[in-house]
Amino acid sequence: MNRIRRIAETIQEKQNITLEELRKLLETEDAEGMEELFAAARKTAQSIYGNRIYIRGLIEFSNYCKNDCYYCGIRRSNENAQRYRLTKEQIVSCCREGYALGFRTFVLQSGEDLYFTDDRICEIVSEIRNRFPDCAITLSLGEKEKESYRKYFEAGADRYLLRHETADEAHYRKLHPPELSLKHRLQCLWDLKEIGYQTGCGFMVGSPGQTIETLYEDLQLIRELQPHMVGIGPFIPQHDTPFAKEKAGTLERTLRLLAIIRLMHPHVLLPATTALGTIHPMGREKGILAGANVVMPNLSPVSVRKKYELYDNKICTGDEAAECRFCLQKKIEKIGFRIDVSRGDYPE
Ligand code: SAH
Repeated sequence: MNRIRRIAETIQEKQNITLEELRKLLETEDAEGMEELFAAARKTAQSIYGNRIYIRGLIEFSNYCKNDCYYCGIRRSNENAQRYRLTKEQIVSCCREGYALGFRTFVLQSGEDLYFTDDRICEIVSEIRNRFPDCAITLSLGEKEKESYRKYFEAGADRYLLRHETADEAHYRKLHPPELSLKHRLQCLWDLKEIGYQTGCGFMVGSPGQTIETLYEDLQLIRELQPHMVGIGPFIPQHDTPFAKEKAGTLERTLRLLAIIRLMHPHVLLPATTALGTIHPMGREKGILAGANVVMPNLSPVSVRKKYELYDNKICTGDEAAECRFCLQKKIEKIGFRIDVSRGDYPE
């Protein structure tokens, strides 16, 4: 049997991977072996989810941020970022438009914007909860106190996305200013899980300083935390950040990692991200063929789309929500999958 296929089977059996197996999978030039890796991951996803791909409507409601992460285009030191925040009414109107398009999950994402106090967040969450009782509400607002996370949960939020970015202490230091810590970020993830959120961690592929060893630690963290969702996408430099001149992560490595995560964690909700669609026109389709089972088209008003510029050349910034929705549907159907418009909760 092919060496790569054997490694894929071992990962699946042990739901774990060794550093040497990871090295082999990330370094091999065996193209046929890679097809087998992707096929194994795809088969695993299909055994649980069939050919269904869940959709989530992403609402990027503020790009103000108090943090200064070196990779991110909306970091506070970026004076060229045109800052905006949506009102509660605007956010609800995005949801209304999304609901009509079949979305049953809304993802509210922002920078760490101090304007949005706990009371304001809870007000927004309660409003969406009351108006759209059959929808899931996902938050992605960064690091908060456990009490705050609890309040949002009680107001009706169901899920929380907080990429850990890297599970390696030294690597974390290279990506973030001194006031941020990996320890606190990980604490947030454990708190979220304990409160009862469907919780998502994740990382960028190819961020400056990332190695096979640091990726191994990311995979070990996923194994330990057992998150419900894992968001990964290539790092893409943004021209107004300290990492402007760094190299982007690759399509190939992102696909391999998607497949590995699927094999290690068969039930995980795994998006084919916008960043993956940005580095390659078929990026998201290839992501699905490598084991991803979620896509997150944008529902933000077109007037602010371009301003939520985490990285350069982000796709779909000129398209109306409906265009994005149907364009993705076509892409997905072309590769033999179909969009599922249910909430798409983690299967318990
Ligand atoms: N403030 C929230 C949301 C952050 S933006 C939080 O802290 O969780 C969402 C994700 O975009 C980040 O977690 C990061 O992994 C990703 N991101 C930021 N800059 C990026 C870049 N230059 N290339 C690719 N992904 C990036």
